[in-house]
Amino acid sequence: MNTENLLNENKIGRIFCIGRNYAAHARELNDDIPESPIIFTKFPSCLVKEGNDVHFPEFGNDLHHEVELVVLIGKEGKAATAAEADTFIAGLAIGLDLTMRDVQFELLKNSLPWEKSKAFDESAPIGDFISYDPTRINLENIEFSCRIDGELKQQGNTANMIFPVHTLIMELSKVWKLMPGDIIYTGTPEGIGPIKRGQTISIHGLGMEHSWKIV
Ligand code: ZN
Repeated sequence: MNTENLLNENKIGRIFCIGRNYAAHARELNDDIPESPIIFTKFPSCLVKEGNDVHFPEFGNDLHHEVELVVLIGKEGKAATAAEADTFIAGLAIGLDLTMRDVQFELLKNSLPWEKSKAFDESAPIGDFISYDPTRINLENIEFSCRIDGELKQQGNTANMIFPVHTLIMELSKVWKLMPGDIIYTGTPEGIGPIKRGQTISIHGLGMEHSWKIV
């Protein structure tokens, strides 16, 4: 399968996102460690490729960065085992799950859905995908990080995921038939924090670096 085509021809389908998948991040938000993956979604229209600016949303004040490993699904179906799940992975990227934290806290306080705080336009800056080769990439030892104006803010390793990538694919399969072009934002490590207009955020991992200016 050609991962290049999936992204370049705008064939990204659904965007699944996982909340609280790193214990240290759950703790920094005073949240419990989940017993099963917390799943939410964004829209393909949320994606921003490098070369475009990210516009600070008008409806909130506290925009937070969350750097995450992103998994590209390459085949249709459901995965019942970890070995099966592995065959669904076409590519990997590093991305940002931008979050309006003040809006999210207000929604959560009132037990309301949090889409507005998570799935707004330009909330998902994403780097290039590389092809996934299980003989060369260990999904449970991928280092990634993000910097604001060059200063290190988040540094994570997929070894610290509560639910590893294969488990996420199996759990999503219980609810949805996966489709080529679906992507999964797999959760953020600790170190989340605000990003302001005028700053540049860069993400690093999988041997690549990508950056966006917040305007
Ligand atoms: Zn996230």
